Amino acid sequence: ALERYVSIRDVPCVSACGQRVELFMNAGLMADLPSLASSGAEGVGLFRTELQFLVRNKMPTRTELAALYARVLDAAQGRRVVFRTLDIGSDKVLPYMKPQDEPNPALGWRAIRVGLDKPGVMRMQLQALLRAAKGRPLSLMFPFVAQCDEFTRAKAEIDKALARERKLGHVLPERLEVGAMLETPSLAYASKRFFDEVQFLSVGGNDLKQFFFAADRENELVRRRYDTLNVSFLTFLENIVDRCEASGTQLSFCGEDAGRPIEAVCLAAIGFRALSMRPASVGPVKSLILRTDLRALRKVIHAVRDAGEQSVRQAVMEHLRGAD
Ligand code: PEP
Ligand code: MG
Repeated sequence: ALERYVSIRDVPCVSACGQRVELFMNAGLMADLPSLASSGAEGVGLFRTELQFLVRNKMPTRTELAALYARVLDAAQGRRVVFRTLDIGSDKVLPYMKPQDEPNPALGWRAIRVGLDKPGVMRMQLQALLRAAKGRPLSLMFPFVAQCDEFTRAKAEIDKALARERKLGHVLPERLEVGAMLETPSLAYASKRFFDEVQFLSVGGNDLKQFFFAADRENELVRRRYDTLNVSFLTFLENIVDRCEASGTQLSFCGEDAGRPIEAVCLAAIGFRALSMRPASVGPVKSLILRTDLRALRKVIHAVRDAGEQSVRQAVMEHLRGAD
């Protein structure tokens, strides 16, 4: 099987019905960078910047971060890298920050909430990212945006950082695109103004699913209880696809499900045109998409939904087996 993945590594990911699906990889540490070449990923769809904060015992400096981010962009050789600003709190606690005593950390003071309330670290990080990019394109996204004004305020921080760099006479990024992760159901129902304002959205399926089903992603008792291919969840995701299509907003999916071939092919069938996953999943996911008629699969998904089933999984597996 491994040889098969190597042989399709440089083949563009196009479904059997001719639909292009971009496959990106998730990363976060320098050790992930060689996978950019070996996996066949088209870029980094999610760079989890908090990992570099988590592996240290003290806060990294702006200079250190700028050097690290520059190395990431060097390794990408012009391919897209989406840097997610610091996503801490909940399951990701920095050893050198005062721990908060919160009754429900997953629902607590985390990610963009921390970034907006205590903007010092985020400002430092934004500056480091701008400096790393200098003269190159840069993609930034904010984690855990739950409502429109959080995104607007975070974007204002980027504008401030840009103005500062400009004043200092530093070279700015060649292009800058700013997006958000969609990880709370609330954001799927944000006003049209938000969808028009945000340049791209990436569904963080790990968090989105935990909040959709109210089932803690860390809790063994419940974390596997609800199927991603549950009709309710797929219908909700299709709704997001429709809204993004209506506003012309780029959309991708970067939770763990994007790296599971059956789930990935269903996401592609309902309209996700970009998936980001762990590097080892790129081959298996591509292999299945290449063999799949996504339009036919979409019909299967809708037929099962209309028939009143709870999950499309069984029908999808049977369909894929039959098509092979
Ligand atoms: C997610 O929530 O799906 C996601 C990609 O972010 P993380 O797993 O880092 O929370
Ligand atoms: Mg998340």
